[in-house]
Amino acid sequence: MAPTRLVLATHNAHKVDELRRILGPQLGDIELVAYDGPEPVEDGTDFEANALIKARAAYEHTGLAALADDSGISVRALGGAPGIHSARYAGTRDDGDNVRLLLERMTGIDDRAADFTCAAAFVADGIEHVEVGVWPGTVLLERAGAGGFGYDPVFKPDGLTVSSAELSPDEKNAISHRAMAFGKLFAYIHTL
Ligand code: IMP
Repeated sequence: MAPTRLVLATHNAHKVDELRRILGPQLGDIELVAYDGPEPVEDGTDFEANALIKARAAYEHTGLAALADDSGISVRALGGAPGIHSARYAGTRDDGDNVRLLLERMTGIDDRAADFTCAAAFVADGIEHVEVGVWPGTVLLERAGAGGFGYDPVFKPDGLTVSSAELSPDEKNAISHRAMAFGKLFAYIHTL
């Protein structure tokens, strides 16, 4: 049976609200609660492994069915970097530093293809399940837009003429890598 209460492993309380908005009616009767427990070591080699590490830790600490995600931007011409190291690419946790470094590393590079990837994991009694969402696009030559966070000002989703920082939260929540991953994950959860 689908769980009635899920903990979301996050240190950021607004992530629960964001996920509620992403899921909308797909959340159904499930109650979402933020879980701000000890941070496990994220030593996985891909987004899926790190999302599972976080969800497993939350499940083990609370005994409740748990969710976690891991995401980032992967640039083709940089061999997939920054990838799982997106949050600390420049050595700090500062979005401005990360974007500056990315633009610097892409100076003179014509192939600007990049993807945002999100892995969303669910861990419960005897179950470990991960779904992945990939949002393809390109890295802009300079920043555009003041919305979003992280690499949004320099990411132009394929099929759009604006950066993801120029989308409203609702527009982004309808099509982002996170929306795709959690949409698939909740479709799975509702089959339980
Ligand atoms: P997290 O795993 O969700 O904490 O994301 C790791 C990092 O990836 C963030 O700190 C951002 O730098 C980047 N990132 C992930 N998702 C997005 C997004 O939707 N927009 C911009 N940057 C993102």
